[in-house]
Amino acid sequence: MSLWQKGLKELSDLIRSGEVKPSEVVLSFAERTGEVEPQLKSYVTNLIEEAVEEAKKKDEQLPKLEKIPSLYGLPVAVKDNISTRGIRTTCSSRMLENYIPPYDATVIEKMKAEGYILTGKTNLDEFAMGSSTENSAFFTTKNPWDYSRVPGGSSGGSAAAVGSGIVPAALGSDTGGSIRQPAAFCGVVGLKPTYGRVSRYGLVAFASSLDQIGPIGRRVEDTALLLNVIGGKDRRDSTSADAPMEDFLSYLGKDIKGLRIGLPKEFFPEGLDATIKGLVLDAVKQLEKEGAEVVEVSMPTTEYAIEAYYIIAPSEASSNLARYDGVRYGYRTKDYKDLEEMYSKTREEGFGAEVKRRIMLGTYSLSSGYYDAYYLKAQKVRTLIYRDFMEAFKQVDLLATPTTPDVAFKIGEKTDDPVQMYLSDIFTVSVNMAGVPAISLPCGFKDGLPVGLQLIGKPFDEGTLLQVAHRYEALAGLYSRFPE
Ligand code: GLN
Repeated sequence: MSLWQKGLKELSDLIRSGEVKPSEVVLSFAERTGEVEPQLKSYVTNLIEEAVEEAKKKDEQLPKLEKIPSLYGLPVAVKDNISTRGIRTTCSSRMLENYIPPYDATVIEKMKAEGYILTGKTNLDEFAMGSSTENSAFFTTKNPWDYSRVPGGSSGGSAAAVGSGIVPAALGSDTGGSIRQPAAFCGVVGLKPTYGRVSRYGLVAFASSLDQIGPIGRRVEDTALLLNVIGGKDRRDSTSADAPMEDFLSYLGKDIKGLRIGLPKEFFPEGLDATIKGLVLDAVKQLEKEGAEVVEVSMPTTEYAIEAYYIIAPSEASSNLARYDGVRYGYRTKDYKDLEEMYSKTREEGFGAEVKRRIMLGTYSLSSGYYDAYYLKAQKVRTLIYRDFMEAFKQVDLLATPTTPDVAFKIGEKTDDPVQMYLSDIFTVSVNMAGVPAISLPCGFKDGLPVGLQLIGKPFDEGTLLQVAHRYEALAGLYSRFPE
């Protein structure tokens, strides 16, 4: 087995025991990147050569270290909406094509302190708005299992990079499913932490009450390792929570006897693809054999989640994106007569079609005549969704659902129909609306394409999610499969 086929935690153990050097690890991924990346196109900014140089420095420092930090010498890719000091951070938008942040996001600062090595900034749907990376202003990333299909989105570059084996782990962001859906499509593990678990400082804002940064890895333990590093209260993000940080790795290997798993019937609607349904229920059955108890629950507000999400997220986006006016940073149009024309031409030229659509939807929902009918109503629905989850969690410890209604779709298949595209988020958005944590991990294949199992947990109970996901992963043994 080559080094590039190993997960982040396995590589960390090898570096710690002195069996391999950071440069050997990074060189193995560099070689794989050279073979795969020209067609895959997961990076907006590929930094693998810089990563090799950095790894050589880390080889030399290693013997002098008293204590080896937890990500020492480990390569990680980062979604290109997370600010990296001195390194272009584009959000896959013309608006920020040449933007170089003067500061690091908190998650980057924390990973640097633990000795990680950045391999590059990954492609996304422009400003994280989308489910396929087709909304990137630059190019579409391919699905590593089938180059004619999308990798999902918006963290499609991060998920494709991990799925193809060019990096063992990556960071993504999830506002309505953007970590979990691409993880499912690419056959890897993606964790959206509880809202507030991870600081959003330095994450370019899309919908601030929903956005959360989280890890994508080959193995469940890789996401636990990264959450240990990136989580925690940050005084620079007032919405980050004071909840105690635990050692999430300590949950792995714990037995799951007596844990109650809920199957929300609204997540298994009539017409759900039979193979997807079968694989998810089969996964739950395997957990039942391990001693978990399975209970059917009902979450009646689920059917309104997409409608409410596609009011709230665009509303917040329309406000957040008002800052791109060509004045202080980002793109500015070349020819203009006056200030107003400068604003409007800058935004006309700098934003792509989907971003404009969201700004218009959001501005409309927030306008004085429609605020009560749309925005306020959607907020009420959001409260009901939250209550549905809290009711369910009185009966069960976690919920199990499909991550997506189907496997990765063809490039171009949904680009002319935004509503079809929005519907691919049907099982993921309510999790963000309720602010609870959820993980997606592979549970099988349909026609050679990966299928994701989603586990949803109580607020700040990522530990239980990781515990159950880890147990299932061991039973299923799918992580060792790579696309040809
Ligand atoms: N696909 C959803 C959207 O387009 C979610 C995106 C995300 O989570 N960033 O809004």
